[in-house]
Amino acid sequence: MTVINEIAMKFIENSDFNEKVNDVLEMIGESLNVCRIYIFLDSLDGSTTSNTHEWCNEGVIPQIDNLQDLDYKQFSSWKKMLDIQGKIVEHDIHNLPKDVVEILSIQEIKSIVVFPVIVEGNQVGFVGVDECSKNRFWTEKEIDLVSTVAFMISSTYERELERNLLKVYESNFKSFFNSVDGMLLISDEEGKVIYVNKKFCEKICASKEILGKSIFEFPLDKSKLEKVMDTISSGDIYKSELVVEIKKIKFAAKIKIWKGEYNGDSCIFTVLKNIEHEKELENKFLKIFRNNPAPMAITDIEDYLFVDVNDSFLQSLGYAREDIIGKNVRKVKIFKDNVSYESVKKQILNGVEIKNISVRVNKSDGTVIDGILFGEIIISDGRQLLVSVFVDVSEQVNLYKVVNEQKLRLEHIIDSIRAGTWEWDLITDKMIINDKWAEIIGYTVEELSPITINTWKKFVQMDDYVKAQILFNEHFDRVTEFYEAEFRMRHRSGNWIWILSKGKVTHWSEDGKPLRMFGTHTDITELKLMQQQIREVSIKDSLTGLYNRRYFIEYLSHMLEEYNREKNDFSIALVDIDHFKKVNDNYGHLCGDYILKEFSDILVDSLRSYDIVARYGGEEFIVICKNSNRENSVNIMRRILARLREHTFVYDGKEIRITFSAGVADADEVLHKGASVESIIDIADQRLYQAKNSGRDMII
Ligand code: GH3
Ligand code: MG
Ligand code: MG
Repeated sequence: MTVINEIAMKFIENSDFNEKVNDVLEMIGESLNVCRIYIFLDSLDGSTTSNTHEWCNEGVIPQIDNLQDLDYKQFSSWKKMLDIQGKIVEHDIHNLPKDVVEILSIQEIKSIVVFPVIVEGNQVGFVGVDECSKNRFWTEKEIDLVSTVAFMISSTYERELERNLLKVYESNFKSFFNSVDGMLLISDEEGKVIYVNKKFCEKICASKEILGKSIFEFPLDKSKLEKVMDTISSGDIYKSELVVEIKKIKFAAKIKIWKGEYNGDSCIFTVLKNIEHEKELENKFLKIFRNNPAPMAITDIEDYLFVDVNDSFLQSLGYAREDIIGKNVRKVKIFKDNVSYESVKKQILNGVEIKNISVRVNKSDGTVIDGILFGEIIISDGRQLLVSVFVDVSEQVNLYKVVNEQKLRLEHIIDSIRAGTWEWDLITDKMIINDKWAEIIGYTVEELSPITINTWKKFVQMDDYVKAQILFNEHFDRVTEFYEAEFRMRHRSGNWIWILSKGKVTHWSEDGKPLRMFGTHTDITELKLMQQQIREVSIKDSLTGLYNRRYFIEYLSHMLEEYNREKNDFSIALVDIDHFKKVNDNYGHLCGDYILKEFSDILVDSLRSYDIVARYGGEEFIVICKNSNRENSVNIMRRILARLREHTFVYDGKEIRITFSAGVADADEVLHKGASVESIIDIADQRLYQAKNSGRDMII
């Protein structure tokens, strides 16, 4: 038998790989009479290589321990030569590249033959023989032998790798079986149990009690068994739910049976899953589902078919069960519009929580209900189901509509009275105003933007601003229910515009501070003018243009109040024209009127601007001299009297002269009497009477 045949026989032997390889190396080493023969195998990533097997001739020092994890980078030419030439055959290693020479000369190698170990086309190591004693010229036969051995080692190694891989698979497979979330039983084609996993043993029985027994001994009714066999024979998985009853153990389970292979043989896999807990949950869920007062539906989200709906669904929407179950959501036209359907679908596809989706739902009688949809996706039997709850909000929607209508109506009202509106955020001081607000003062909103409370402040008259501020504060302190103020704002043209502003705080903070306020602006300039005219008429005497008696009394009473507080001295003078009856009698009533008018002008002209002159009655006048005591005031009045004596009234070509008498009273004089209007006028009146009685044309 040639060495080659011997080697081939060795490789076919079903013995351990390492043992086999070592035997072969010895056979070749002896046959070639080389110093050393060896195998190197590379690391998985191919970057390093290690001497795994070695045979040394007598007297040769083994190298195996020195030649572990050699980095190919240190002799990169080596791999290249094996790659390109498929071998390294050299009688003198010094003919080889430098990096290779270096590593070989350390081992005192002189001649070498090396062939690669190739697995699935990849170089994974090499087989080599060394001659250290001399430079040896290798014969063809010798080289062939090494090449053949390398080839055989390659294929043996490949098989070895496969076997190892299989072992890994097998152990993985076993751990998979044990980790199967259920009880696994494997039987052969005849039904003889050949394997049960840990779970099976824990739940049902120890493996030794069942291994070797037939699964058909289990109490399964015949029709079911036939169905199982039919299903699995056609290559499908038989799935069912059943109550397992084995050796007094009873539980609800899901069962899956299919045909497969185990250790290369056909077999039947049976997986049992205890669903007692799930059943319990399912029952609970069904109870909630059935009895829920809100309409609920279960829909398959793959084909959008209704799987189930509860009674409330049918009753509230008026459908019969058969109208809905198994029907497509879209075909049933349950959603009023496509928007509702699409928005639900979109949420589902995007994996977004199905919460608060506004939908409009068709009832069977054609009416529409507004609602909100909540949903949860569950997985049952491998199907993705949407369990949804529909909350009817049509009442709220109607309410909202009413509120909205009211809001619109309010907007119309505001629009029709042409009021400006403002909304003031008291935290940021930002204001929102409408077009009319800006238009009242001759601007557009854009021109005034950005709008804050300062925009208003910029245009408002300063005194009015201060007054409005007080009114704001009264409202903020809840003294007033509404804020209401009148103020002037500067119009673009420079005029003052009178504004009536009304408002109310709409949002308060928890500690009672105003947060937001809403109000209106109304242009009341015309009204103000009218009011002013009316007021003027009501306080003034039409003939002379002086204040009338009513206004004077009012004014005097303020003056006295102020005097009581602040003691700003003042006097009054009651003036009566002397013998006025005669003027009328001699020159006529119109002349009398004319003189009354001109006399008034002289009075006003002779007094300081802040003094007050009023027509008290017919030809009687009354004067308030401010910051002036009795003595001063008497002097003032005497000066006027002197002026009057010099004054000639000319009416209708006639020259007329008049005088007057006056009684002066000081506020200080009536202080002890409570400084009343009556008391001070009374004193002045008495003095006037005195003056008249003392010959007229005098001041007392
Ligand atoms: P004396 O005060 O100095 O005692 O004399 P008198 O003539 O001024 O006195 P009396 O109070 O009796 O007369 C006031 C007159 O003034 C009577 C009335 O005709 C006249 N008179 C009052 N009001 C008006 C008026 O509005 N126009 C005119 N033309 N005369 C008036
Ligand atoms: Mg009089
Ligand atoms: Mg008189």
